[in-house]
Amino acid sequence: MARVGGDEYAALLPRAASPDDASIVAMAGTLPLLVAGNDEQQRTYLGGLMKKLSFCAFAITEPGAGSDVASMSTSYRREGDEFVLNGTKHFISNGSVADWYVTFATSDKRLKHKGISCFVFPANLPGITRRRMHGKLGQRAADTGEIYYEDLRIPASAMMGREGEGFKYAMATFDRSRPEIGSIAIGISQRALDECLRYSRQRTAFGQRCSTTRSIQSAPSADTWVIAAQRSGPRASKNTARVARSRPGAAHTSRPVSWSTTTVRNL
Ligand SMILES: Cc1cc2nc3c(=O)[nH]c(=O)nc-3n(C[C@H](O)[C@H](O)[C@H](O)COP(=O)(O)OP(=O)(O)OC[C@H]3O[C@@H](n4cnc5c(N)ncnc54)[C@H](O)[C@@H]3O)c2cc1C
Repeated sequence: MARVGGDEYAALLPRAASPDDASIVAMAGTLPLLVAGNDEQQRTYLGGLMKKLSFCAFAITEPGAGSDVASMSTSYRREGDEFVLNGTKHFISNGSVADWYVTFATSDKRLKHKGISCFVFPANLPGITRRRMHGKLGQRAADTGEIYYEDLRIPASAMMGREGEGFKYAMATFDRSRPEIGSIAIGISQRALDECLRYSRQRTAFGQRCSTTRSIQSAPSADTWVIAAQRSGPRASKNTARVARSRPGAAHTSRPVSWSTTTVRNL
């Protein structure tokens, strides 16, 4: 089977992405298994996805730790052959519907990134409660949830890779998922621009098409932003800093484009 490389994939996604297909974000749940999962974990969880329709989630963000992943509070401790997890994850794509989670927790918050480990486990265990989060401005077709771990007991075999290496696995996951997220932002920008142009060409106000009015003609050129983002946009790379820098460029594109489209829609 032909293999699509990271760059080609990032280039394709803007064409596929629309405001409705943000659930692509949840693919990030499978990536840590490719990065750090052992054969058994890959067979169980990735194999399970092939057998029946099921959902996974990548749960790292917390109410007090977003961009600053290393400051997470969700904790784990070892008790015999088990780990016990406590904490809250929020803004998790597929969080309230997933069949299994990849999640991150720390053995000691003071260790920052060196204390973080990565786990994979089913979502239907005692000790897990969850709820859907409401009131998002966009990406409403994608479930976004909050997950609570209260003395959640998982077997020691649920740890992925080596203890204390979870931060590295998270960054390796982001190296692969950020180009997709940036590409989705470009796709949303392109769709917003298309909608805006279509509307401005069909809408008549003060006896003329909105698209011919001076204010629209002189509006900041949204298509320039989109094209610039596509050219300088997200690229797959093993260099975390490079990938991280490429995503905001694309994500921020949607802001001026949205502003421009809002200007047109408000006329
Ligand atoms: C729709 C949606 C789906 C999501 N899905 C998932 C998911 O599946 N799994 C998951 O784990 N998380 C998910 N998230 C959470 C997402 O990863 C976080 O929102 C993100 O990491 C930012 O964290 P934060 O919201 O806490 O913002 P903060 O980290 O509090 O940042 C707030 C603002 O400050 C800026 N900022 C932060 N640090 C700096 C700095 N050093 N320099 C300059 N500016 C800075 C940020 O850019 C941002 O504008 C999702 C979020 C959304 C909205």
